Amino acid sequence: MVPFAGNKRYTALVIAIHDRKPDGFEIKGIDSIAEKGIRFSDKHIEFIEWIADYYGAFPGDVLRAALPVAFRLESVSYVELSGEASFENSSFTHTERRVVDALSDGNSYTVAELQKLTSIKGILPAVKSLLDRGVVVVKEVVDPLFKPRSESWINFKGEFNDDLWRGLKRAAMQSGVMQLFKESGVNAMPRSLILQSNPNYAAAIRELCKKGILEVENREVMPISGCEECVPSNSLNPAQNDALQSINSLFEKFGTILLHGVTSSGKTEVYIKLIEQVIAQGKCVLFMLPEIALTIQIIKRLKRVFGGEVGVYHSGMSDRERAEVWRRQSGDNPYKLLLGVRSSLFLPHNNLGLIIVDEEHDTSYKQREPSPRYNGRDSALMLAKMCGAKALLGSATPSFESYRNAIGAKFGLVELTQRHGNFVMPRVELADLADARRRKVMCGNFTPLLVKEMRRVLSEGGQVILFQDRRGYSTFVRCDKCGHVPQCPACDVSMTYYKGDNRMMCRYCGRIFTIATHCSECTDGTYRMGRAGTEKIEEEIAKLFPDYPVDRIDTDSMSNKSRFRESIANFESGKTRILVGTRMIAKGLDFGGVKLVGVIDADTLIHLPDFRAEERAFAQLLQVSGRCGRRGNDGVVIIQTAEPKREIFEWVKQCDYYTMFNTLAAERKEFGYPPFTKAIGVEFRHKDRNVVRGYANNVVKFLRLKLGATAVEGPAEPDVARIGNMYRVTLLLKLTDYNHFRLAKFSLDTLAESRDKSIRVIVDIDTY
Ligand code: ADP
Ligand code: ZN
Repeated sequence: MVPFAGNKRYTALVIAIHDRKPDGFEIKGIDSIAEKGIRFSDKHIEFIEWIADYYGAFPGDVLRAALPVAFRLESVSYVELSGEASFENSSFTHTERRVVDALSDGNSYTVAELQKLTSIKGILPAVKSLLDRGVVVVKEVVDPLFKPRSESWINFKGEFNDDLWRGLKRAAMQSGVMQLFKESGVNAMPRSLILQSNPNYAAAIRELCKKGILEVENREVMPISGCEECVPSNSLNPAQNDALQSINSLFEKFGTILLHGVTSSGKTEVYIKLIEQVIAQGKCVLFMLPEIALTIQIIKRLKRVFGGEVGVYHSGMSDRERAEVWRRQSGDNPYKLLLGVRSSLFLPHNNLGLIIVDEEHDTSYKQREPSPRYNGRDSALMLAKMCGAKALLGSATPSFESYRNAIGAKFGLVELTQRHGNFVMPRVELADLADARRRKVMCGNFTPLLVKEMRRVLSEGGQVILFQDRRGYSTFVRCDKCGHVPQCPACDVSMTYYKGDNRMMCRYCGRIFTIATHCSECTDGTYRMGRAGTEKIEEEIAKLFPDYPVDRIDTDSMSNKSRFRESIANFESGKTRILVGTRMIAKGLDFGGVKLVGVIDADTLIHLPDFRAEERAFAQLLQVSGRCGRRGNDGVVIIQTAEPKREIFEWVKQCDYYTMFNTLAAERKEFGYPPFTKAIGVEFRHKDRNVVRGYANNVVKFLRLKLGATAVEGPAEPDVARIGNMYRVTLLLKLTDYNHFRLAKFSLDTLAESRDKSIRVIVDIDTY
């Protein structure tokens, strides 16, 4: 803990100790040690510094991302009586008197505590006035947010001899407790365990402690002990076995291997075998997933095999839980297998043998806001290199970056082309939205084909997944007379309508509005729903198929952790028959009963203003298709689209990654996009549109001069041109090689120093 800006206290990390006296600023002392027993290895610090340097972030920002909240202590203001003041004769108001009385026990209290002690609500003015008169002082005290959880253990240090039993003759309860110790053959037990066998033992334990036979000890609880039953891992099928052999032999040549395996080929089973190997060598494994949503199922699968060796780390856990995992990883007995999202890279990894990055193509690996805007997959490769560990990337739809590295012999490449059990890939059919609309045969958002297939599959006992990559009830509402679409007053985007609570919300700034019955423009028309989101789809389904239970999973419904868990469990058990969801349900999940996947509107995936739009759309469609037919040959996918002739659907139908890659990669190469260049996204924001445009124009001129004309794309106004009252302009830098990339970063740094500080600049390295 170090003093900073007056009497505030901050957590700091000691990077180095040296004896060169710095010039130009005052040296301050270290206040106290914030966390004992947390040590950052040199590798760990090197990694944090690499992230800061490569992604252009402040080391403090990286540290903030790296440390669990519980270790980033905060100072809290404490009040206590001033030593010198003699206030016997002072005149106090009633409230002041109560505050002084509360403090006269000599302790210091926070304002909140004082409020409680005095049972007076607004005591702040009274405290302030006492402070002004020197009656009290305010101290900055650091309050540790994290106190290790402890548990009472009962120790028995004596011996089971005749003396002991004789002494307990008349105390049936007490000899019962001692009998428990004797039978279990241990000399220490958690108190809770003893009480489990008989709740009335509490008094007996107390008596035995008084007699000095037993003693109480508080022990720190380490998360989840390793006493769960484990089952052996599945034996691999021949294709998986070959893949494992190839991975092992390629690791002799390559640090990184890409495992390209179709959905349900059993990539997870191959990972499990590899993890067993690494653990057997006495090393640890980090298993990365893009999203918490995926962890629930995978944790179960890994725990079945590895039991208590599995640790979990993600933002859905409490601060305390995360701090506990951190402490354990920095100690002598770390989890052998740690499962986590991108932030798990920052745990103190000792003895790392392997990092697995599952669903490596996933955009959730990239942190966009706030800084550091790092890519978890790329950073994992760097961490592995620093630790001398191997890295395995896995995906059914590899990113172009990884695939290019694999075919370019920078990574090893291993493929799994068959589903486990040799089940065929699901049959993909297109349903023409434009045609169905023209013929007026749409049933809400559903084509007759999709409704027919749903009816069939449901009556045969199968389950259905419906994919719609839009949350809410409707992405916008529109006046049926004048066509007016209500927009967020602070952002240039239409409001999303949520029917559940009949309100509109801006997806960008979170502003909430109630909806008027009549149009605010023409005052005549009424608002009608625009394109449908998941909430609307769920409602339509409930009407169309009232006999089949339906559920919905998206970030809105995800906000409740236990409800989400329940949704997954209910679908797994077959209690829910239809599941509606966003991209959250499109990947990684393994449900046996799904026979039909319906894509409500594929066109929204394709029409995104991003050079990766088609690659992403292909990946999404293939991933979501992959959720069905995992235990049989009867999987069907219905994709609704207004443009069924698009090439991309042919690739999806054939499950043809290679043609997709070759076709789209050729276009990318021609126009100098990643993976053939390195990309930096730059965004400027200012509350005045002209200021930000003018500035961006100047920057473009400067950068074209430095980097070459073709390296700078823009300036462009993004789809949502204003967020939270700030106007946006974006650039894309396409850099041919590493030197070019460094030059671009250097030029941006130069610009940042001289700019008008009211302009916000966001630099996104390797924008993804
Ligand atoms: P992927 O990760 O490639 O999508 P999974 O590892 O989830 O595939 O495997 C799909 C399903 O097939 C899972 O339910 C898995 O348990 C099962 N499976 C795959 N390989 C085997 C195997 N060798 N033995 C038993 N079950 C397997
Ligand atoms: Zn807004």
